[in-house]
Amino acid sequence: MRPTLALIAHDARKDDLVAFALRRRADLRRFALLATGTTGGRLADEVDLEVEAVRSGPVGGDVQIGARILDGHVVGVLFLRDPMTAHPHEPDIQALLKLCDIHGVPLATNQVTAELVLDGLVRRFGTAAEGPAH
Ligand code: PGA
Repeated sequence: MRPTLALIAHDARKDDLVAFALRRRADLRRFALLATGTTGGRLADEVDLEVEAVRSGPVGGDVQIGARILDGHVVGVLFLRDPMTAHPHEPDIQALLKLCDIHGVPLATNQVTAELVLDGLVRRFGTAAEGPAH
């Protein structure tokens, strides 16, 4: 079973995440991908990634991803946040970040860190994770 990697991007960061995913598609395919609703839809449509999409972030998607962390299957969270905009689901976002810290899940909240976390996860799980090497 491939390890699960969660991907989330706020609206202002979704284009960045799509560009990141296009560039790192081969590495991302080594993981079972989990994403919030709109983010997951874009990754499936524009990057041709197989993604399990939960609900959209503002209506509970971050909470669902947090629950998956509690299940123990999530090995990393790449969450491109928009720190300049107020989000109605801020408590859910904070809960997700907190769960990453409680359970020791690598968490990136900006693109530069996302690159580094993905590099590290590929090193750690690359040989175990299946996936086409292209
Ligand atoms: P979305 O959720 O991918 O459904 O837009 C992300 C968020 O805004 O938290």
